[in-house]
Amino acid sequence: MRINISRQKLKNPLVKKIQELSGQNLLACYQCGKCSAGCPSISQMDLLPNQVIRYAQLGFTDELINSKTIWVCASCMTCNVRCPKGINIAEIMEALRQILLRQRKEHVDLNKLSHEQLCELPPIALVSNFRKSSS
Ligand code: SF4
Ligand code: SF4
Repeated sequence: MRINISRQKLKNPLVKKIQELSGQNLLACYQCGKCSAGCPSISQMDLLPNQVIRYAQLGFTDELINSKTIWVCASCMTCNVRCPKGINIAEIMEALRQILLRQRKEHVDLNKLSHEQLCELPPIALVSNFRKSSS
């Protein structure tokens, strides 16, 4: 796969916003993969957590905002604990969700789910959704 990297991509406003909202230094990540290795949700993700960081480092914003990974992330924070660089990856996922929610790109609307569907959801999914919707 051919990857085009440009100064514009590296310095684009979305990447700056992710860093601002999350308070994390994206460039501190050296792609060890420990975050992804411990993530309980990767089977449902289209980008691994370390790939989210890499795409953000390289300014691949379209891939990031169209990825389902940020919505699948359950905010369990296992990745944060495993990161040898102390990066709060869950906050980076949250920052991306906040950016999209502020643009009104909601992925799941609990109000549209039936009572039966709500009863089948694991509690962590509900808690996670409330957190995602509270920005
Ligand atoms: S916070 Fe999200 S990305 Fe991190 S381990 Fe949990 S589910 Fe995976
Ligand atoms: S564990 Fe930390 S340093 Fe390693 S890939 Fe994930 S974010 Fe990067």
